[in-house]
Amino acid sequence: MTLDILTIGEALVEVMRTDIDQPLSQPGPFSGPYPSGAPFIFAAQAARLGMTTAAIGAVGADAFGQCLLKQLEADGVVADGVRQLPDQTTGIAFVAYNADGSRDFVFSLGAGGKLSSDMLLPELFDGLRCFHVMGSTLSMSAEALQVCREALRMAVDAGALISFDPNLRPELMPPEEARIAFADFMSSAGILLPTAAELLELTAADNLNQAVDMLLAERPDRIIVVTRGAAGCTVYSGDGQVDAPGYAVDEIDPTGAGDCFDAGFLSELLAGKSPVEAARLANACGALAVTAKGPMAGAMTQAEVERFMARQR
Ligand code: ATP
Ligand code: MG
Repeated sequence: MTLDILTIGEALVEVMRTDIDQPLSQPGPFSGPYPSGAPFIFAAQAARLGMTTAAIGAVGADAFGQCLLKQLEADGVVADGVRQLPDQTTGIAFVAYNADGSRDFVFSLGAGGKLSSDMLLPELFDGLRCFHVMGSTLSMSAEALQVCREALRMAVDAGALISFDPNLRPELMPPEEARIAFADFMSSAGILLPTAAELLELTAADNLNQAVDMLLAERPDRIIVVTRGAAGCTVYSGDGQVDAPGYAVDEIDPTGAGDCFDAGFLSELLAGKSPVEAARLANACGALAVTAKGPMAGAMTQAEVERFMARQR
């Protein structure tokens, strides 16, 4: 098996409040389970864009695990590296939406947090083109960090392009700790997909230009794509800096924007497009992601994304 894209991390289902301003501290209606987990949203989007994609992670041997596995199968995501752990329940994220656009979460990571070395099947890495890791996964536990480091070594040895989205989650890991935990991934990454705030936290630079200069000096052939929410993104490389404006959409559910963006960027790049072309499609994937309720509901196919882009022109 030769994969275009491999990722690793927390498999979850999401269970969400049906209306705005229904606090998680009181009884009330939910809808779900919806298949979720940032690396799995990413994998679904990459597969829908035509990439041969696999994800590594774990679910429980329960109905919620089945919910996620069925979705992976429907999208053609290679799930050989997804374990069903009989003594764990599938990870669950309960989400409430507030009128100000913020979200509240209750997480039970369960099987989703249980990564182990035996999940790193050598055949997933053999001939691999691109390995994508998220900081949220590295922040889960010391064990998860260790397994991801091992996976990183295997991907580097296989000659894969390394892609890293820092996805800092201060509630999981303080930024000063993340700076150390993420260092191997930052320095190995040919593609970095941070926000401006994440770049400043992780490099300890005074400003964005200084952070970018440091990272390009370390690895002149790398591409840094700084995401800017509704404003789109900026691509930095040895060729300079180019802004790619965002698409105007009505935001319904922000979950998954960054993950769909990452998948859009990498799949276009692997298909031979320039970084700026890849950034345009990535912006469209990120914009579409926020227009649908449900973590994977806004991840569209290549044809759907291109139709959306044509309409916006
Ligand atoms: P996440 O919380 O999912 O990790 P993030 O903070 O890493 O998100 P954002 O910059 O919020 O990343 O979003 C990623 C990309 O998704 C943006 O660069 C943009 O292309 C698109 N996007 C996000 N929000 C919107 C929006 N409201 N309207 C249009 N595009 C959006
Ligand atoms: Mg992010």
